[in-house]
Amino acid sequence: MRILLVEDDPMIGEALSVALQDAAYAVDWVRDGESGWHAVAAQEHQLILLDLGLPKLDGRELLRKLRAADHTLPIIILSARDALTDRIDGLDLGADDYLLKPFAMEELLARLRAVIRRQGGQAAPELSNGILHLHLRTHEVRYGNREVLLTAKEFALLQALLLRPGTILSRSQLEEHLYGWNESVESNTVDFLIHGIRKKLGAEVIKNVRGAGWMVARPS
Ligand code: CA
Repeated sequence: MRILLVEDDPMIGEALSVALQDAAYAVDWVRDGESGWHAVAAQEHQLILLDLGLPKLDGRELLRKLRAADHTLPIIILSARDALTDRIDGLDLGADDYLLKPFAMEELLARLRAVIRRQGGQAAPELSNGILHLHLRTHEVRYGNREVLLTAKEFALLQALLLRPGTILSRSQLEEHLYGWNESVESNTVDFLIHGIRKKLGAEVIKNVRGAGWMVARPS
């Protein structure tokens, strides 16, 4: 999961980036609305966390512009504007959720998981293709009768595959789910992570399609 964070407050931005990376999300952090607009064009994200009071282009305007351009990606507004009209306005402009500052990080993470589940078309607190189960809060993974704990990056990789079971993801697509702009990627990271996952869950859990990438099975 790669998240675009649009936030001009340096302390909040830094704290959010660290907490999100700890929770195995890749984060791209930009500090004004215009950069947010360009970031959406430059990189595929699964979700936007959007502040409203932003320099250059206000968060409300950015939201309006994105929806007018038919960008469908989920957007959660993070704002200190607590008037009822602001919240209604934000949701009506196309935001998926509205979280009032200050908020508890745990609540933000829970709302993120809810959005991920909906993207995967599931209401349960886990992602699954029937045989492989990823619990989004505890990071527990079950495959057949094996239950294991994966590292944060292993979990993030498997989650990326399980969000689109039956779809082949290339090395660079997987890397995009794992690392934000400010993180450096080792060239063999994906192989290393897949090796680790297969060792814990069995080789057949991830299929390699030679020359194209990797996938997990579609639900049967
Ligand atoms: Ca702000």
